[in-house]
Amino acid sequence: MDPDGAAAEASRQRSSRGTAEMEHHLTEEQQTIRDLARTIAEEKVKAVRAKYDEEGTFPSDIVRELARVDMFRVFIPVAYDGMLEQGLGVTNMCLVTEELSKACGGIALAFAGTALGAFPVLLFGSEEQRKKYLPPIAAGEKLAAFGLTEPMAGSDAAALRTTARREGNEYVLNGTKVFITNGGEADIYTTVALTNPGKGARGASAFIVEKGTPGFSFGKKEKKMGIRASVTSELIFENARVPAENLLAREGMGFIVAMKTFDVSRPGVAAQALGIAEGALEETLRYVHQRRQFGQSIVNFQGVQWMLADMATHIEAARSLIYSLADRIDRGDTKDIGYLSAMAKVFASDVAMKVTTDAVQLFGGYGYMTEYPVEKMMRDAKITQIYEGTNQIQRNVIGVHLAKQAAKLAG
Ligand SMILES: Cc1cc2nc3c(=O)[nH]c(=O)nc-3n(C[C@H](O)[C@H](O)[C@H](O)COP(=O)(O)OP(=O)(O)OC[C@H]3O[C@@H](n4cnc5c(N)ncnc54)[C@H](O)[C@@H]3O)c2cc1C
Repeated sequence: MDPDGAAAEASRQRSSRGTAEMEHHLTEEQQTIRDLARTIAEEKVKAVRAKYDEEGTFPSDIVRELARVDMFRVFIPVAYDGMLEQGLGVTNMCLVTEELSKACGGIALAFAGTALGAFPVLLFGSEEQRKKYLPPIAAGEKLAAFGLTEPMAGSDAAALRTTARREGNEYVLNGTKVFITNGGEADIYTTVALTNPGKGARGASAFIVEKGTPGFSFGKKEKKMGIRASVTSELIFENARVPAENLLAREGMGFIVAMKTFDVSRPGVAAQALGIAEGALEETLRYVHQRRQFGQSIVNFQGVQWMLADMATHIEAARSLIYSLADRIDRGDTKDIGYLSAMAKVFASDVAMKVTTDAVQLFGGYGYMTEYPVEKMMRDAKITQIYEGTNQIQRNVIGVHLAKQAAKLAG
């Protein structure tokens, strides 16, 4: 195909998707990854999303498909059987999460939750830990999960009560984690427990715990409003004996491991939100064109067009924020990423909630019915304002940063 023909074909494909998406400076490899994820979303995920949502079951067949096309390698370095030559692969992770989320935010989470569980090993793992745990994740043979939240430690994550007592060459873990994505389905869990309970957050340490560890089991599987294809379970540690070599970083660094992990995983939640919003806009554009009232297509009404205009504008703004942040992280420029990741997560998730709510509105009564996907998208969008730190907590992070800036400006 000649270059002009290729450009025209790309343009035709973009317009057939319904939205004129702004081009960002993605590398050829990133575009290939995005296009492959888009194909899986279109050809595999859309067909099964309603079934998984209704049944509330885990999408093992899609996970196998993602593994087959090497999707889990996109955020893992070549040295550990991934495909990353350099950087952390946050852009790749975001692109895959976004594309899958356009079709189903819940199914996308099997992938994004695994990235969340793998990041502590990528960021803080020893060479031995990386060599042992990352290759099976890259191959998609093993999923990962991240367990921080407890019944009494949600937004106040430092209030955790799970303990890890050192005994010889092992740590003995006791306690319960709640609401853990991929819980029960994953084989590799990164989790945080108190090695020195008297010291609060400074007494927390991070561990890698394998499924099958004696004393480690799974409790209640949650029934949820949305993202019902994602499994959310309790992790129960009852004298679970974890080898001392599975300590990540050093004793006392557990909270730092968790916070640094969220700095690079929150763009993924933002990308999930972005994908859900994009999926909702696309469905809406199709619908408003074919739905007729007052003798004409409802897309002709200015009141409808203004709603569409806001939806599309917010989506583009979210995309720009996420892509530029992800690129910055991949280039190793980590200055202020806690603050910027919080912004990306807050903004994109609020956009997802607004866009999906407006999508339901533009479908009228049909939007409220399960035969159209927008009501599911609205239910799926809600979680992005809640997990990996609620949006109030993200605004606290942004606010504290600004208060420090204010103090500096005041001299
Ligand atoms: C489907 C799902 C999947 C999840 N997956 C994971 C996972 O994989 N791993 C994991 O570790 N956790 C996971 N979580 C947990 C999630 O991160 C927490 O639910 C979230 O951080 C909020 O904690 P909480 O539910 O205890 O709410 P709470 O902390 O009790 O908050 C209740 C309300 O109070 C507000 N609030 C609390 N403190 C403040 C404050 N200081 N200022 C202003 N407002 C405040 C909150 O914003 C919220 O609106 C998941 C949760 C869900 C629902």
